[in-house]
Amino acid sequence: MGRHVAIIGAGAIGVISAIEALREGHRVTLIDPGEPGGEQAASYGNAGWLSSHSVIPPAEPGIWKKVPGYLLDPLGPLAIRWSYLPKALPWLIKYLLAGWTEAKIETTAIAMRALLKDAPLLHRKLAEEAGVPDLVERNGVMHVFPSRVNFDGDLGWRIRKRVGIEWLELNADEMRQREPELDPRYTFGVVVEEAGRCRDPGAYVAALAAHAQASGAEFVRAKATGLRLDGNKLVAVVTETGEVPCDAAVVAAGARSKLLTASVGDALPLETERGYHVMIENPETGPRNSMMVSDAKMVVNWTNKGLRAAGTVEIGGLDAAPNWKRAEILRDYLVNMFPKLPKNIPASRIKMWMGHRPSMPDGRPCIGYSRASRDIVYAFGHGHVGLVGSARTGRLVAQLVSGKTPEIPLEPFAPQRFL
Ligand SMILES: Cc1cc2nc3c(=O)[nH]c(=O)nc-3n(C[C@H](O)[C@H](O)[C@H](O)COP(=O)(O)OP(=O)(O)OC[C@H]3O[C@@H](n4cnc5c(N)ncnc54)[C@H](O)[C@@H]3O)c2cc1C
Repeated sequence: MGRHVAIIGAGAIGVISAIEALREGHRVTLIDPGEPGGEQAASYGNAGWLSSHSVIPPAEPGIWKKVPGYLLDPLGPLAIRWSYLPKALPWLIKYLLAGWTEAKIETTAIAMRALLKDAPLLHRKLAEEAGVPDLVERNGVMHVFPSRVNFDGDLGWRIRKRVGIEWLELNADEMRQREPELDPRYTFGVVVEEAGRCRDPGAYVAALAAHAQASGAEFVRAKATGLRLDGNKLVAVVTETGEVPCDAAVVAAGARSKLLTASVGDALPLETERGYHVMIENPETGPRNSMMVSDAKMVVNWTNKGLRAAGTVEIGGLDAAPNWKRAEILRDYLVNMFPKLPKNIPASRIKMWMGHRPSMPDGRPCIGYSRASRDIVYAFGHGHVGLVGSARTGRLVAQLVSGKTPEIPLEPFAPQRFL
């Protein structure tokens, strides 16, 4: 029998969970104080990669040696704000430990592969269903390296091979043929043909939300503040403007999910890895494909609104003001990568954005029941892969709400691993 499911958060995870819950025959209410696909959500401004091969967690063995550098360089690819260090410390310790050994990283990679496999196809089907097929492309993505040595030294690629991911390797000449505008200092490339990309993540989420509403979901514009239980039975989602009665709830509020889980006694180590993007409207040139630039830790992707460079990590909490210098660095990198881009693009053609990746320390999201009640499902903490990971997560959420056996093992994603 269908249940009344309240889904808190209308980012990529929430709206796809809504579509899949409707498909299972449930009644759905989506709750969000913002516009679905709006700038407040990480799902708006991400790089748009549908990279089913992004299975490697952010922390790697020996990363602890780099922590002093992260603290000293506020503009580095990974920076930790001094003022936020005391608050972030417990999460940072778990993060360092999660990447301590190769075996730990491989365990996460195996789990993430199950979550992300086939994601470009799942997204394409969702985009077709929502009437926006052109927003999802499945023509591969490229990683570029200054040299082959940088690739060979990367543990992540060795583990990717072991979990069954395949790619094409390009020497300098082959790279030039594919990407004639790219600065020749990049001499080695890898193409992952199974991956895809989204041409406008914000518009995609908005279209999915509209599709959910057209299929029967109700949208309540409100900020959820808690979950009301009667014993272990869920009664309502509490919002700033009143209660939404329901018999199941999904917590999918991205980086802001922590207060909601704490309201029912689940203290989960969710942190925000702040990231930035810079967008150049009507750029003079750019890549032919979408590319990850290994030394800058940023993705360059064409969107319908322009050329977007997105990435880097800043540990600084949910409330601190953006440090726009970090986005300017992305812009400068982009201009150096494509020498035919003018050095002084007018500010009117440049847009900058900062958003909050919702990140668990071990690089695996929380997908599973709350300890307080099986009426509450958690679906957050997807870190760097929440767009690509949203397609299967939505299906898993619907299966959990329906009490069905999930289509992949959920032990690696169980919130209880931290409790
Ligand atoms: C710079 C950058 C680049 C990235 N690149 C990629 C990429 O290429 N590929 C990829 O797969 N992932 C990428 N990511 C990660 C991805 O964007 C996130 O993991 C994903 O968007 C998380 O989706 P979400 O739905 O969990 O959260 P969000 O998109 O943040 O949505 C959460 C929603 O919850 C709402 N909300 C918050 N609090 C409440 C409340 N109390 N009550 C009700 N609603 C609430 C918010 O308003 C928001 O709409 C990137 C992230 C960043 C920052």
